[in-house]
Parts: sequence; structure tokens; C-alpha cells
Amino acid sequence: SGMRENLSYEQFGVAVRELAQTIADDGYRPDVVLSIARGGVFVAGGLAYALDCKNIHLVNVEFYTGVGTTLEMPVMLAPVPNAIDFTDKKVLIADDVADTGKTLKLVRDFCLDAVAEVRSAVIYEKAQSLVKCEYVWKRTDEWINFPWSVQPPVTPSGEAPAVNREAL
Ligand code: 5GP
Repeated sequence: SGMRENLSYEQFGVAVRELAQTIADDGYRPDVVLSIARGGVFVAGGLAYALDCKNIHLVNVEFYTGVGTTLEMPVMLAPVPNAIDFTDKKVLIADDVADTGKTLKLVRDFCLDAVAEVRSAVIYEKAQSLVKCEYVWKRTDEWINFPWSVQPPVTPSGEAPAVNREAL
């Protein structure tokens, strides 16, 4: 399974503040942070606090089924946010990683028609990503272990532990 980039919760705390600082220094003041669930929710929460933006939206996208194994194309799951909510808004899309970039492209294309401006912020961007995010904390081409998904889901104490596909 090759080398891994490991991010701890402590390093994530530093990363999200530094990412927010880059956005603030660039003069971008989003009206809405749009998170891509589930990994993007952590990033969006940290960025929204650090940028003093009180408006967070969420979109669910399904793509990865395991390490490097994907559906053919990412799909937005219901309920899809109402793009009318974003009319004339400056939107910041937040996600954990742009890998192929297909997930971010799907969400960005969804926003493009309606909004005043859309930019994207990620903790990690891989070289192959077809979307070049405006704000990136770190570049890597390794598989990333994120603190929220590196461990399997909990099971009730005494029951058999769950298997984490990402840890295989
Ligand atoms: P993309 O559409 O850019 O290929 O992938 C986006 C989503 O796939 C990410 O939000 C993340 O959930 C998952 N993903 C892609 N690459 C990685 C990785 O290296 N590590 C982990 N844990 N998830 C990844």
C-alpha cells in the first residue's frame, strides 16, 4: 500500500489556521463556506471560525469506496443544497483533499452559475488534480491518513471491531 502521509488532529489544528491565514492575507472574505462531507466538514468548521464566517452549508458527495478504488464518477447525494441560497454570495468550498479533483469539480460546477464568486480551499492537493485550488496547505502524492478516518468506526464494547478499509 506504499507510503502514507499521516495527519494528526494536532497537525490538523495548525493546518486549518494556516490555511485560513492564507485566505485572509489574500483578501478573500467568503459569505458562505460550503463543505464537502464528510472530510470537508472538519475543514469547513475550522475555516469558518478562523475567517469569522457564520454561514456553513454542506453537500454530500460519494466517490471513494476504498484506498484508490472509486465509483466511475462522483455523485451528489440528496439533499442537494439549493443553489439559490448562494446567489450573489462569495462561496468558499472546503474539502480535505483534491486527489483526482473530480469531487471538487462537481461541486464547483454546481456553484459556478449561481454565485458571485467561488474559490476552493483544501488541506492537501495532489499533482494530478484537475481542479487547481486557490488555497492549498500542503501538496503530496501519497495516500493521506486523516485523523477522522484512520481508525475504524466504533462498535459497542464487547462486540467485534469494525474493519477499516482505509487501513488495509
Ligand atoms: P477526488 O474526487 O479529488 O479524487 O477525491 C476527493 C475525496 O476522496 C476526498 O474528499 C476524500 O474523501 C477522498 N480521498 C481522496 N484521496 C484521499 C487520500 O489520499 N486519503 C483519504 N483518506 N481520502 C482521500
